[in-house]
Amino acid sequence: MTDGRAAGRRRNDIGMRVYPLFIPHQGCPQRCVYCRQEAVAGMSTAPAPAAVPGMLDAMLPVRGDGEVAFFGGSFSALSAPLQEAYLRAVAPFLAAGRVAGIRVSTRPDACGPEAVERLRRHGVTTVELGCQSFSARVLTQSGRGHGPRDACGAASRLRAAGLRLGLQLMPGLPGADTREARRSLACALALRPDFLRLYPTVVLRHTLLEKWWRQGRYSPMPLLDAVALCAELLWRSRQAGVPVIRLGLQSSPELHGPDGIVAGPYHPAFGHLVKSYLWRRALDRLLTQGGCQPLAVHPSDVADVRGHRNGNLLYLQRRFGPVTIQVQERLERDGLRVGARLLNLWELARFPVIGRRGCPSFSVESPLEAGSGEHAKG
Ligand code: SF4
Repeated sequence: MTDGRAAGRRRNDIGMRVYPLFIPHQGCPQRCVYCRQEAVAGMSTAPAPAAVPGMLDAMLPVRGDGEVAFFGGSFSALSAPLQEAYLRAVAPFLAAGRVAGIRVSTRPDACGPEAVERLRRHGVTTVELGCQSFSARVLTQSGRGHGPRDACGAASRLRAAGLRLGLQLMPGLPGADTREARRSLACALALRPDFLRLYPTVVLRHTLLEKWWRQGRYSPMPLLDAVALCAELLWRSRQAGVPVIRLGLQSSPELHGPDGIVAGPYHPAFGHLVKSYLWRRALDRLLTQGGCQPLAVHPSDVADVRGHRNGNLLYLQRRFGPVTIQVQERLERDGLRVGARLLNLWELARFPVIGRRGCPSFSVESPLEAGSGEHAKG
């Protein structure tokens, strides 16, 4: 469910520019219960391969190191001729050095040996797999049409082919709970991806999930729960050395419009809320232990430290009295100076270690099936 846009370009956390081309639902064998790409990216049709060169010519720099990205569908499930037509349309721009690679998003069950070899042969450099969950039950209830083992097989084939691997997870799907989210993350990290995207499930209009929500069969996570959960998942990913390049859906007029989000933990600054949550956790722990003041952070961290609408600052001042946050250019991002001591957000905000039981779906799926399903009634 990559929230690509057909226009514009972005630089993600691992420093690569992405030039998205949107192919909504192309290749998808069925519609997942939560998905409506038109609402996510505001596009309802895919460009024909013949239109791609003109779009890229307008989009790409004279020389560049980014990736052209086919987002919004199941690229490797398109017919082989159509995949090749799209990829051939990008090839001259690769040869001219205007872009360094091609990224596609796709389904785990569309990454068999032949499909992976085709991607590699035609210059694809990164594949984003929409795993969403590693619980067979959650995947079934969400209408995904594949199981957790498909993701494991796809990931190992993609890595063996030398492709960069991104995994997408969606906490809060039907039948899911926090335990499922933690375990799905553990499974995802066990596949050694190059990066992750975390999209807490929201209810989009004109989806089956909307119907279930209106019938009372599905309850999305409250926003604060989703923030807390994603903060923990972000922290655990960081501990594993895997960057999370996206937290929550990208804000867009379509999402905010009448045919966009009707319920669920959406916030246009979701990533900021998550990072602010971690800073509150860190500073609460520090000040509870008697950490002295003033506190100093990198300028780029000030907004997260203060929190959304100064929420962290107000919270800390209620608990500990006046709190002074200073800015120091020389500090590293996520660093914290407390008097003479140099501390770090990630250490201060630490979460309890959870047992290393590996990825259940590699061996038996039953451990993932024991969740209480606190977000789903149906
Ligand atoms: S496979 Fe991906 S793009 Fe296709 S319907 Fe499911 S979530 Fe949406």
